[in-house]
Amino acid sequence: QERLLGGEINASDNWDAALRPKKLDEYVGQEKIRANLGVYIKAARARNESLDHVLLYGPPGLGKTTLANIIAMEMGVHIRATSGPVIEKPGDLAAMLTNIEEGDVLFIDEIHRLSPQVEEILYPAMEDFQLDLIIGQGPAARSIKMDIPRFTLVGATTRAGLLTNPLRDRFGVIERLEFYSHPELTLIAERSARLLNIQTDHGGALEIARRSRGTPRIANRLLRRVRDFAEVEHSGVITGKVADSSLERLEVDHLGLDHQDRRLLAVMIDKYGGGPVGLDTLAASISEERDTIEDVLEPYLLQEGLIARTPRGRTATPLAYAHMNRELPDSLLP
Ligand code: ADP
Repeated sequence: QERLLGGEINASDNWDAALRPKKLDEYVGQEKIRANLGVYIKAARARNESLDHVLLYGPPGLGKTTLANIIAMEMGVHIRATSGPVIEKPGDLAAMLTNIEEGDVLFIDEIHRLSPQVEEILYPAMEDFQLDLIIGQGPAARSIKMDIPRFTLVGATTRAGLLTNPLRDRFGVIERLEFYSHPELTLIAERSARLLNIQTDHGGALEIARRSRGTPRIANRLLRRVRDFAEVEHSGVITGKVADSSLERLEVDHLGLDHQDRRLLAVMIDKYGGGPVGLDTLAASISEERDTIEDVLEPYLLQEGLIARTPRGRTATPLAYAHMNRELPDSLLP
């Protein structure tokens, strides 16, 4: 089932590619990454070299794929995009690497899901631009070394800790994407509205920004949903008031939490006395996968200070009690 507030791409997000900024200076926010990449790209271009391998990590929908495309565009090279689970055999990766041109970008999304055998041939490819392949089987098998063009690997993952150490060590540039601020998301919503011919005033864009979990993909998705309400039930313009009432109807609350987030907080508070409670217990209680909680639900709740991470598990903070209209237990009173 598709989640309105999920950062991952949904089948109905067919606008996704159209709204992608194409150049570094169209990319909103992530100041540090933008500044750093700008320098690395300029330096590599001036030396006529390929860019170092880049690892981008952070929750879904924050702009990792977009950045990979921008890197290729700014370097003036082609990009080939694939993802960890799609590359099944070493031969699949070898085929891609022998078909690229000097300097090209190979983008591997969900790079933490590469199989160990595929990872094994990626190491020399990244380090020495060489493929070590085994040809044939049994006693006749022999290994051959083959040069490949110098390329830039851009890897994306939700958490850097999911990668094996040898793989992580082979990236020259490792950048973590942060959630976007409300002003940044307002700019993104306004830009998307312009591109999609959606009428919105500043208040409308700001209200959507506030309720988008710090995530551009969600801001874009909410913008399109709110537009329907604005056109059918209002004058067509997304104002702050229109956005607020529409998002209320879509059950997105003022902090940008939906049913699933609130259920997680409710379970922590009502069933486990505010915690600490372990991830696996939480996952079982709300019938969600542990990874979904860790990669999708939890990062935003942590960032907003609604939950906290302790060595013994997750706890609900006083802010969570207030947001959920629950009375604060004595143990949490100041
Ligand atoms: P990820 O790969 O991290 O899941 P994407 O790069 O696919 O995220 O971004 C999702 C959508 O959000 C894109 O279609 C793009 O329109 C929008 N987006 C992401 N980052 C930015 C940004 N910095 N500025 C403007 N739009 C952005």
